[in-house]
Amino acid sequence: MDHKELVELDHQYVMQTYGRFDVDIDHGKGATLYDLAGKEYIDFSSGIGVNSIGYGNEKWVNAITDQAGKLGHISNLFYSQPYARLAEQLCRRSGMAAAFFGNSGAEANEGMIKLARKYSFDKYGKGRGTIITLRNSFHGRTLTTLTATGQDVFHNYFFPFIDGFRYAVAGDMSSLQEVAGHDVCAVMLELVQGEGGVLPMDPTYVHDLAVLCAERDWLLLVDEVQTGVGRTGTLFAFQQYGIIPDAVSFAKGIAGGLPMGGFLANERCRDVLGPGTHAATFGGNPICAAAAQVVLDTLDEDTLAQVAEKGKYIRARIEHMGLSSLGATRGLGLMIGVEVTGEESNKAMAARLIRNGLLVLTAGQALRLLPPLTISMAEIDKGLAIMKDSLL
Ligand SMILES: *Cc1c(COP(=O)(O)O)cnc(C)c1O
Repeated sequence: MDHKELVELDHQYVMQTYGRFDVDIDHGKGATLYDLAGKEYIDFSSGIGVNSIGYGNEKWVNAITDQAGKLGHISNLFYSQPYARLAEQLCRRSGMAAAFFGNSGAEANEGMIKLARKYSFDKYGKGRGTIITLRNSFHGRTLTTLTATGQDVFHNYFFPFIDGFRYAVAGDMSSLQEVAGHDVCAVMLELVQGEGGVLPMDPTYVHDLAVLCAERDWLLLVDEVQTGVGRTGTLFAFQQYGIIPDAVSFAKGIAGGLPMGGFLANERCRDVLGPGTHAATFGGNPICAAAAQVVLDTLDEDTLAQVAEKGKYIRARIEHMGLSSLGATRGLGLMIGVEVTGEESNKAMAARLIRNGLLVLTAGQALRLLPPLTISMAEIDKGLAIMKDSLL
């Protein structure tokens, strides 16, 4: 099959819910991808932050194959080793107390929302189910997480949306106070707003917000679906903010490309969701858990320190290119936003970069870079050279 035939097949049989770039991807190695015709692409996107340890990692492939040959799925009515070992690792390295496993970011956030509402119900009874989220946030595509998403453009078509969400302006404590009320049980936020444009939260704001949550007995829910699993240079971004969330969600990068999501709860919230209150048929799937184990093993302290260094390097190099179409950079670790200043839209710029062999993403008005965390310096330099040659 060639590119043209593939595009025709897609258009004929697949719902056209995605605005795809006119590129196909066939296989990859490291942070380098190849299309059906064999053309090479440097990947600064990781399949939207998913391919955290790149493509074709041998340990990852072997762990998946071995586990598939042993046990591909077992219901959560039985014990099995892979999810249990993974939960231990995640808790040990995050300081959290217990894990729940599902399949995606939206599902993980739904679980945290359920946890917050049940925590409050158990303690205070009905009428305290409101969750405050932030303007410009992104929490997922299910009806509840769409409602939680603080961007009006997402609140269309699918009425009625879910009750019990209010929105505060990010970084503004007085806005949070304004929407506070006796019906609130939690605040949910991203520490670096991803889809919103790669916007890191101010540490003082996050600290003050955590203090307010503690005072009001609101749960502090951190959505680390994009920032988690090493993306920002620590296993979770909250570890750089000096806060301890009541619950933290993860998904995208956790299993290095296989579907897995979930959330961790701290000591006081670990038993809120008791037997029968929450479940996921595929949750903690042994193959996904084995893959995630390799991801966590790969992301040791050394590799995480390199994530921070590589992020700084990429940002410095871009800022020194002196391109008139690009402004300041921002972000944490290998989660980088580049301001677009020229006439040309970020989408048009991304399309040209991709055509020229560098996969990038957009978010808000910015270019967004999420390279595999294990990308080599040679691949980084190759990607930056394409950027310099492609943009004005
Ligand atoms: C991608 C993302 C989600 C949604 O994850 P899915 O796996 O697509 O459901 C939720 N929150 C944040 C911060 C994300 O970046």
